[in-house]
Amino acid sequence: MTAFATQQVQAGYVTGVPQNSAVAPIYQTAAYEFASLADAADLFALRTPGNLYSRNASPTQQVLEERVATLEGGASAVAVASGQAAVAVTLLALAARGGHIVAASQLYGGTVDLLQDTLDDFGITVSFVDQDDADAWRTAIRPETRVLFAESVANPVAQVLDIRLVADIAHDAGIPLVVDNTVGTPYLIRPGEHGADFVVHSATKFLCGHGTSLGGLVVDQGTFDFGAEPERWPQFTAPYKRFGDLVLWERFGIGLAFAALVKSKYVHDLGPSLSPFNAWQILQGIETLDLRVSRQSTTALTIARHLQKHPKVAAVHHPGLADNRWHPLAERYLPRGVPSVFSFDLAGLENDAAQARAGRVIDALETVRLVANIGDARSLVAHPASMTHSHLDPRQRAAAGISLNTIRLSAGLEDPADIIADLDRALTYA
Ligand code: PLP
Repeated sequence: MTAFATQQVQAGYVTGVPQNSAVAPIYQTAAYEFASLADAADLFALRTPGNLYSRNASPTQQVLEERVATLEGGASAVAVASGQAAVAVTLLALAARGGHIVAASQLYGGTVDLLQDTLDDFGITVSFVDQDDADAWRTAIRPETRVLFAESVANPVAQVLDIRLVADIAHDAGIPLVVDNTVGTPYLIRPGEHGADFVVHSATKFLCGHGTSLGGLVVDQGTFDFGAEPERWPQFTAPYKRFGDLVLWERFGIGLAFAALVKSKYVHDLGPSLSPFNAWQILQGIETLDLRVSRQSTTALTIARHLQKHPKVAAVHHPGLADNRWHPLAERYLPRGVPSVFSFDLAGLENDAAQARAGRVIDALETVRLVANIGDARSLVAHPASMTHSHLDPRQRAAAGISLNTIRLSAGLEDPADIIADLDRALTYA
């Protein structure tokens, strides 16, 4: 097997097209021409693989899928229009109508919205648990539970998940574990190596890396056997009516049937397709993933150590710091470094003045930008309570580790001294 740095620039693309383009081309076309009607009919019936229509896939997207599947050590991947779409199609495919999900309370706010609001409309219910509480995961599982869901390193407070612990709980119950590895990135952590069965990404963040394009992926690690309890997973093991009673599990099997269902049903019907241009942008970003992520990780730790000593800062939530509650898990799961997204709490009571105080500090920043994104080349801040997590009630926000004093920082590629000087100047307004 080749090394990560080789895989991130080469996996998934062979210079075989007539023009011999060294870089994977952008196939900017809505549809593909068929050689014959018989050829078209075979493609539509899933009898043969091939290019059909860009809502389903484009060759640029397929290179991206293969590259990210390789980097995560998985069997196959599906790329879609955003991270939100990746989480949605994954959970729809696994939970289906009437299914139940047990999810960590420490999640990105948009995922909480999806779980407690939109998926509820689809007849899928959710229970939230403290991700550090093994008994809470176990007792929340019901007969209709179909998936456990958590982030490898949570956005925004950077709690590190004990993936092996939660994977074992899932497998004891005969269900898969899905891990959102957006903040972790496959360079720092590969959840599949610790028992996760499906890994989702917002490619908008570190994979793209430059804040230019939305995208999302789900990787099937090829570890979960839907055939072991076929009556539990009819979406894979029962005849699929629209394809002449084809049984996905028989045709595609472990590691491939999930992608076939997601593409042929959820992406096809709901249409959250990735544009070929965005797929190409994300591919360019991935080529420097290890360089960016390791430098940003070092920068973030330098900033965290500085903030820890700052009188206007009450707490720094960075698992690279020795006194952080998740430091032992970071040492175990993140030997290459801790992600560059972390939070800190301004000193002061959590009352109306807290929001105004955070506003004064954030508005005074100049090098660090106020942007609702992470994993960008630029350093970004956000105030989760008024932005990404503003739809959560105060109890839910507290369960996620967020207060009105919490500011999230995503360290970029600037010189760390400039970021620190900017933070120091802004903190005088606290
Ligand atoms: N998962 C995590 C951990 C995120 O931080 C985000 C976005 O911030 C998403 C999923 C959703 O991704 P996207 O914005 O690409 O839809």
